[in-house]
Amino acid sequence: MGLNVIMLGAPGAGKGTQADVLARRRSLPKISTGDILRQGIKDELPVALVAKAKMDRGELVDDETMVAIVRERLGRPDADAGFILDGFPRTVDQARALDRIIDDRGKGPLIVVDIVVPEGELVRRLASRRICSQCGENAGPTDGQSCLRCGGALIQRPDDSESVVLERLGVYARSTKPLVDYYRVRPTFRAVNGAQAPDLVARDLETTIDEAATVGGRAGMGA
Ligand code: AMP
Repeated sequence: MGLNVIMLGAPGAGKGTQADVLARRRSLPKISTGDILRQGIKDELPVALVAKAKMDRGELVDDETMVAIVRERLGRPDADAGFILDGFPRTVDQARALDRIIDDRGKGPLIVVDIVVPEGELVRRLASRRICSQCGENAGPTDGQSCLRCGGALIQRPDDSESVVLERLGVYARSTKPLVDYYRVRPTFRAVNGAQAPDLVARDLETTIDEAATVGGRAGMGA
């Protein structure tokens, strides 16, 4: 049975970093819809260029586009054994669509992990976050001026500027937080304290996911 994980949490909660670690450790694809869109913009794909204006303002891209992207990505063979979803779903409608995709494909239980970080800490983290201008990798606080993976220059993500960050946190509270209520009632929903050092969050996450997987497997839940 595959390990299907959704990472929930506000912008800056550490979803991307933790999804990377987990994906590497479990040899599963990390599917980040933000990364897919940013790559699409670099490749000048029409669908991503349309999304760019919304991304630059910190708004959500429309559900139809996002569901189509995820449906296509989950249909690739490397997602058969499981996946780590980062940044999707972000609305209750996206979550419903994901349930349908999973049911159609018989992909087994979803484990939903909410990474919880207080708002003041989120703003602080987003203001200092840097990514690689070449490969898009998240840089750690001590990584200096260039990317440890490819040597590219580290830059601030355009949507991490202060005004856009505030908009993204507002969007999160309005559109994405209701998702927590959507998933909370499931036996495979878990919350993890994200206000700790990244390696401690990673440790808690792994323990939590393994424990939730036993529940999900027993219940044989389609969702
Ligand atoms: P992220 O890298 O996950 O913070 O995503 C960056 C931006 O991409 C977001 O602020 C949205 O504009 C867009 N985006 C990424 N994932 C989604 C999604 N599931 N639904 C709508 N918009 C998204």
